[in-house]
Amino acid sequence: MKLDLHCHSTASDGKLTPLEVFRLAEEARLDYFSITDHDTVAGFQQLDVADSDVTLISGIELSTQWSGVGIHIVGLDFDPEHKSIKTMITHQRGVRESRAIAIDKKLAAHAMPGTLAGALTFCPDIGQVGRPHFAQFMVQQGFVKSEKQAFDRWLGNGKIGDVKSGWPDIEAGVAAIVDAGGIAVLAHPLRYKLTFSKLKRLATHFKEMGGQAIELVGYQVSPDKQKQLNKLAADLSLAASGGSDFHDPLWRWSQIGKLPELPSHVPAVWQLFKSQSNQ
Ligand code: AMP
Ligand code: MN
Ligand code: MN
Ligand code: MN
Repeated sequence: MKLDLHCHSTASDGKLTPLEVFRLAEEARLDYFSITDHDTVAGFQQLDVADSDVTLISGIELSTQWSGVGIHIVGLDFDPEHKSIKTMITHQRGVRESRAIAIDKKLAAHAMPGTLAGALTFCPDIGQVGRPHFAQFMVQQGFVKSEKQAFDRWLGNGKIGDVKSGWPDIEAGVAAIVDAGGIAVLAHPLRYKLTFSKLKRLATHFKEMGGQAIELVGYQVSPDKQKQLNKLAADLSLAASGGSDFHDPLWRWSQIGKLPELPSHVPAVWQLFKSQSNQ
């Protein structure tokens, strides 16, 4: 089974429109594909691709927090019209707006004025604006040399522009997805730079609150780390998911459908999709 269950479009911080992204999934001859934009289903909802050979699964990537760490939860195969997911999306829009104002103030205090207005030239919707849009403006103004430098110095984990206090607790994120009939997936578990014992606590907690899957493939991981992650999934009976986290066709390391096979020692997340139980 070929799949890619984590990817972004212009509805959040991706560079391609939902349709362009879906065409790449078709070119890659995927069986299952999901657009998981940050805190929105607007991109997914624009698509009408029922006749395609690629099965499109509803998706979202929710921003949450746990123990002071920003954690991303991917939701798959939920009802995008369900009240609980709609309420969560409305909430996240408010958080993005107040967070953007806070980031603007912090950067202005460090001799970088006008960054919110600048970010809005890249993403006109203040309810959707994110740190990558600030980074794009900071590069344009010459405040930093690259988007990577913007994150390394100002916007990344623990830096002054990393304002995460408004995000809902991880429980609320998982509950919104599960209530809407979906599967909650712990996204890119190694990207939080947690010690393995802390990651195990996070994953255990995630499972207890109703999380069902964890991303096991999607980015370059050392064989040692991969083995640890695979064992964690087995110990906690979490299904395996995977996605490229595609944002930009120029990011060679993250292209749609270019993923290793899911490990087979735990069930694959697609086996939990509703379309499976109908067959
Ligand atoms: P936000 O949704 O506003 O919190 O922004 C998070 C997004 O910023 C991630 O999904 C990535 O697309 C991007 N991002 C996070 N860290 C970095 C980094 N170190 N370098 C470049 N982009 C990053
Ligand atoms: Mn992103
Ligand atoms: Mn993420
Ligand atoms: Mn993502």
